[in-house]
Amino acid sequence: MTTEVAHLVPFDEAVSRYEPVIGLETHVELGTATKMFCGCPTTFGLPPNSAVCPVCLGLPGSLPVANRAAIEYTIRIGLALHCTIASWCRFARKNYFYPDMPKNFQISQYDEPLCTNGWLDVTVGGQSFRVGIERVHLEEDTGKSLHVGGATGRIHGAEYSLVDYNRAGIPLVEVVTKPIPDTGALAAEVARSYVTELRDLLRALDVSDVRMEEGSLRCDVNTSLAPPGAAEWGTRTETKNVNSLRSVERAVRFEIERQAGLLDAGLRVVQETRHFHEDTGTTTSGRSKEEAQDYRYFPEPDLVPVAPPESWVAQIRASLPELPAARRARLQATWGLSAENMTWLSNASALDLVDQTVAAGAAPADASKWWLGELATDANRRGIELADLPITPAQVARVTALVKVGTLNDKLARQVLEAVLAGEGEPDEVVAARGLAVVTDDSELAAAVDAAIAANPDVAAKIRDGKTAAVGALMGAVMRATKGQADAPRVRELILQRLSE
Ligand SMILES: [Zn+2]
Repeated sequence: MTTEVAHLVPFDEAVSRYEPVIGLETHVELGTATKMFCGCPTTFGLPPNSAVCPVCLGLPGSLPVANRAAIEYTIRIGLALHCTIASWCRFARKNYFYPDMPKNFQISQYDEPLCTNGWLDVTVGGQSFRVGIERVHLEEDTGKSLHVGGATGRIHGAEYSLVDYNRAGIPLVEVVTKPIPDTGALAAEVARSYVTELRDLLRALDVSDVRMEEGSLRCDVNTSLAPPGAAEWGTRTETKNVNSLRSVERAVRFEIERQAGLLDAGLRVVQETRHFHEDTGTTTSGRSKEEAQDYRYFPEPDLVPVAPPESWVAQIRASLPELPAARRARLQATWGLSAENMTWLSNASALDLVDQTVAAGAAPADASKWWLGELATDANRRGIELADLPITPAQVARVTALVKVGTLNDKLARQVLEAVLAGEGEPDEVVAARGLAVVTDDSELAAAVDAAIAANPDVAAKIRDGKTAAVGALMGAVMRATKGQADAPRVRELILQRLSE
């Protein structure tokens, strides 16, 4: 197959010789209580086939009824993305056969989406990009197949397959961007930033729990390359079901490196769907041409058209919450942090946490420092989101307060945070139990200072001669002797005082 290539062109070189164009199709599971066309619950983790009824099982004679909340959520998303909301549109039947789809068709929207022609701004490396939104449409999810007995979990080699229809009929929204040109070397980061910004927007709108790891937000990533100045964009590939922010970035990078390798060798990029592999960061060819589907779309005859009255749309518009970009600007002005710092916070999903830590009394810079530093490192190590760490903003605020009054220095604060994360209790309990407070007791410090001077007579002599820069060596000795718990400025004072006597 010519779609696989032996050599990859390093990313930086590839984007210096070819113009990437990216595009993203994001599927969002809506957080409604019931399914799209029936009253079955959408609760996650129910026993297989316990949340089903004649409608979502596609039994003969059953009729769907559209879920008003799902339509309202879709309009909320459309309005927040500056889209035009259709005054009249229809659902469409997308025909194909698959075991996890009991009706043998999926109800979706085709040429009459509910929301069209919007935009979302993203910032990468201080540069702003306006990503055009082609459409936002509503559809139902399919069921889930489980292939048992094989080594790979795929149908090939499996002994038998099970199907769970609990997911069949769960409302999904698909947000499709227009092609995004002119991103150059920032293409992969723009893709990631767009999905991050969209995720934050959906979370603020309270329409989905947007958990990528549970599949409630997943992306198809389109990538193409063209020689600079070419009249047309290159042939695009579509990498399906990418399910983490990091993978979105890696998928774009890999496709650019792979396609540049093909073009360099004088080969053609084949228009196809591809799969992304988390373990290797590569993509492989998915669906081949002879499997390409003709979905034979037609307007869904069992549903009335969707015609949201203007007054309802206006009411939804008026109820939109403060959106992430506006909130970031407001918080930045209040907190006095740099734009770069604010970008780091939103990319790490730490804005809410810092906001709550500040509300609990911490200085914004301190709250930002701990959440982006020590705590982000720990969350990374555990492979979880910052918000899922076993520590509360109030506990972080308490640690910053203990630093501020001099009970802790940064090194000790780190130990206290580690202990709280390890479940050893509240910060004050940890400080008491571990005896971690900074030693400010002069008599205790004086003994350590005297010992350090006695052990380093040559350093002491230099300081007596006025070379005060040497004081660092003695401070180091005192800090070691007190296991880092001494108050450093006080130690310095005591050493200089002693040696000037
Ligand atoms: Zn049902």
